[in-house]
Amino acid sequence: MDAGQRFGRLVVIKESVETGKFVCACDCGGQVTVVKGHLKSGNTKSCGCFRRGRASRDSRKKPPKWYTESMRK
Ligand SMILES: [Zn+2]
Repeated sequence: MDAGQRFGRLVVIKESVETGKFVCACDCGGQVTVVKGHLKSGNTKSCGCFRRGRASRDSRKKPPKWYTESMRK
């Protein structure tokens, strides 16, 4: 994987040898370190701004709304 390579909104800046991760610049101006496998698999395509504005990151771990509401009654 080379510097300048693009993955979605991310462009590889350099490899962080200590962590085995890649330092990437995002189109939004943000910077993020990403695990190599996540870049290759297409798992990570942005610094997180892509998902911002939608449901929070933790929403997937919580039970669905209908479930929590039915438990309250
Ligand atoms: Zn971004």
